[in-house]
Amino acid sequence: MEPGAEVLAKGWVRTKRGNKQVKFIALNDGSTINNIQIVADAEIFDEELLKKVTTGASLAVRGTLVESIGSGQAVEIKASEIEVLGECDPMRYPLQKKDTSMEYLRSVAHMRLRTNTFGAVLRIRHAMAFAIHKFFNDKGFVYLHTPLITESDAEGAGDMFQVTTLDLAKVPVHGGKVDFSKDFFGKKTSLTVSGQLEGELGATAVGEIYTFGPTFRAENSNTPRHLAEFWMIEPEMAFYDIEDNMELAEEFVKYLVQYALDNCADDLRFLNDKYDDGLVERLRSVLGIPFERVTYTQAVEILEKAIADGVKFEYPVHWGTDFQSEHERYLVEKHFGKPVILIDFPKDIKAFYMKQNEDGRTVRGMDVLFPKIGEIIGGSEREADLAKLEKRIEELGMSRKNLEWYIDTRRYGTVPHSGFGLGFERLLLFVTGMANIRDVIPFPRTPKNAEF
Ligand code: ATP
Ligand code: MN
Repeated sequence: MEPGAEVLAKGWVRTKRGNKQVKFIALNDGSTINNIQIVADAEIFDEELLKKVTTGASLAVRGTLVESIGSGQAVEIKASEIEVLGECDPMRYPLQKKDTSMEYLRSVAHMRLRTNTFGAVLRIRHAMAFAIHKFFNDKGFVYLHTPLITESDAEGAGDMFQVTTLDLAKVPVHGGKVDFSKDFFGKKTSLTVSGQLEGELGATAVGEIYTFGPTFRAENSNTPRHLAEFWMIEPEMAFYDIEDNMELAEEFVKYLVQYALDNCADDLRFLNDKYDDGLVERLRSVLGIPFERVTYTQAVEILEKAIADGVKFEYPVHWGTDFQSEHERYLVEKHFGKPVILIDFPKDIKAFYMKQNEDGRTVRGMDVLFPKIGEIIGGSEREADLAKLEKRIEELGMSRKNLEWYIDTRRYGTVPHSGFGLGFERLLLFVTGMANIRDVIPFPRTPKNAEF
């Protein structure tokens, strides 16, 4: 819009300042981090009205767009009419407080979405969700909806939340055990921890699929990287081996980071300047270079050498243990100085479905590790061989009862295939630079916390 245009602006007051003659009101409608400045001449507006223009109040303002002489904005609105749509009591409004720490904002989580910070996070979250669909759609992947309620607990990815309509005060019992035949689905069901197994059914039918939906894990991990309800993107591809899988994962995250830089520049700049002055630089740093590919065994050697050289870790490292975030971050930030793809893990720390290597002790898993976070992607080439898969299921003492449908993919027209899971909020931690995963999802669910 050109200066001189008559405009109507609606939004919430961020700040009001000025003097007796003129007030400057910063108005924001949530569509961008940038406010529009309203200039209100005290001669036109009565004092009672201007008193109601307080931080958080909602306004409709008519006026003329004029070139701004103040710094910071190209244009402002010279107001001719101001309507206060909703007042906002400055004594009670929770965002009026000086305390704007993330901890304080979590305590007023129903209101925190109105802050500049959460506005930026929400817009970036939206942009990333859109970019994920665009990336896969442009490649011809099919968006597959896998169930949220499932009887499958086969992945063993995490503890599950049970779904039941049984009256917990009067649980039906049969032969000393809960009688789930009386439950809603006639069997024991839970919320999904991953859509992967169902994803494989889709990939072995239409070739390339992805899921993008909520997942639930009742793990009691109170860390800055775990939620009980988080969103996951799980592509699954027929005819992909582990190399193809790594290539796709790398291309995918680079695409998303590039998309954020191209489309969320103002919000990223705001977060960079307010919280993390290395943010934009860190985002750029993962783009130009190939990720480092390292086997688990090589990584153990690097970490053992680091320990011998005096580096202190809280948790021990030896061949056969799962890495902790501190180990992952050492590899990424200190040793290689770039994102790392770890491959070929000991089979005992990975799921039954991963393709077994010829050495008999490792599987073709891959974890993508990122600076400041550690693991953001976990995936693998899947075991496509019926006999090997069945043997592994037996070795692990897993019940086949709820797995026959999955095993059928190997029984009928099995193909090499691969896939991975990207934790959406882990990606957002990286892209926004936020330090705690509770601050990149609007309504976090964590142990003892399910408000709203
Ligand atoms: P971690 O070891 O970090 O707990 P995981 O190995 O259990 O993760 P996977 O089962 O491989 O995770 O899940 C795939 C991806 O989902 C992970 O790489 C991570 O990005 C994300 N993820 C896993 N658990 C959580 C969680 N509780 N909250 C948020 N994201 C998660
Ligand atoms: Mn993992």
